[in-house]
Amino acid sequence: MDPFGIPADVVARRVEELGEVGRLPEGGLYRGVYTPAWAAARAVVAEWGRAAGLEVGEDAVGNLWLRLPGTEPGPAIVTGSHIDTVRNGGKYDGALGIIAGLTAVEVLKARFGRPKRTLEVLATCEEDGARFRSRLWGSRAILGIIRPEEPDSILDAEGISIGEAMRRLGFDPARIPEARRDDIGAFIELHIEQGPVLETSGHQVGIVTVVTGLTMAVAEVTGRADHAGTTPMDARRDALVGAARMILAVRRAALAAGPPAVATVGRIEAWPGGSNVVPERVRFTIDIRHTDEDQLRRLENRVARACRQVARNCDLGLDFRVVSSTPPTPLDPALRRLLVDLAGGLGLKFLEMPSGAGHDAAWLARRFPAAMIFVPSRDGRSHSPLEYTPVEQITPGITLLAAALHRLAY
Ligand SMILES: [Zn+2]
Repeated sequence: MDPFGIPADVVARRVEELGEVGRLPEGGLYRGVYTPAWAAARAVVAEWGRAAGLEVGEDAVGNLWLRLPGTEPGPAIVTGSHIDTVRNGGKYDGALGIIAGLTAVEVLKARFGRPKRTLEVLATCEEDGARFRSRLWGSRAILGIIRPEEPDSILDAEGISIGEAMRRLGFDPARIPEARRDDIGAFIELHIEQGPVLETSGHQVGIVTVVTGLTMAVAEVTGRADHAGTTPMDARRDALVGAARMILAVRRAALAAGPPAVATVGRIEAWPGGSNVVPERVRFTIDIRHTDEDQLRRLENRVARACRQVARNCDLGLDFRVVSSTPPTPLDPALRRLLVDLAGGLGLKFLEMPSGAGHDAAWLARRFPAAMIFVPSRDGRSHSPLEYTPVEQITPGITLLAAALHRLAY
């Protein structure tokens, strides 16, 4: 049931239009923050906003704010997502949340006129960290937690600082603190699930309960470099063989913890890296996630213990370091309840579920009531040109979003 008449054709057209901006020869998209493609994508969204009769503004870091002013004072009701993409990414990650928010606000404006509370569609400038390791630059600017040294110290692969990249597009890094907002009453982000759960279970929308916690660790294993031909098998201290055992132990630890625990080794380097040399030193990353903070710590400890055990058994050195740790973020209980009630009333098949990926909403939830709506991802694919959600699987999510914005703002 769709009491708002969400226009599927408009949504589909917008996905295609924005999905052309930043297209690479190999088929995927790349809209790293402060690149020409990123600027072009913002121009498209700003033009849509103007055509919809919204006030178009930008803040000091380049977050776009499309505003439908309310008739009464009070904190704004905000919806949206990020406009940047990973390298060789798809058309839906981030972009769909902006398109959904704009379409919902446009429909509400046409049917109900001006809201009591100001409605805003937000396109955050950076979430995916593809160009800079800037860790949600857009949301952190809104929270006012970007440290003064960051603009000069965060570099891209070419050695350009994020501050310099800003200046090249006319943004002044000294003004970043001005992007801070304290007047947001609610933030609701629609996003593709980026996993297979909704599609597999046949649910139309997901209502996110908690955004998973994430610990990033780095393990460095030290053995001894020896000649690959002259050193007998039982006389070796092979760092790479040790690392291989550790990687299997990481997997076992996550399996033993059970869902939703996950642990991944995604990057490994070996030195000296000769085909005829027993590896002396190996470094690999470990990405550990859980939706419960205690369980996350427990898994982290279990992984570290397992790696140390292997190091002892193989007579290897081990330096195990936790590089960063973000605790799980529960989303706002009242907003979640509202979404559950509305989804039930709309007759939607919904599932309350955790998010295994980080999102703008998880950061904005540190200061503002925040919620998330997931729509299905075909085959669970994301961060890939194969990202796809048919429009008929998108509109139920936008209907729910529109219903929530209507309830909160009118
Ligand atoms: Zn995203």
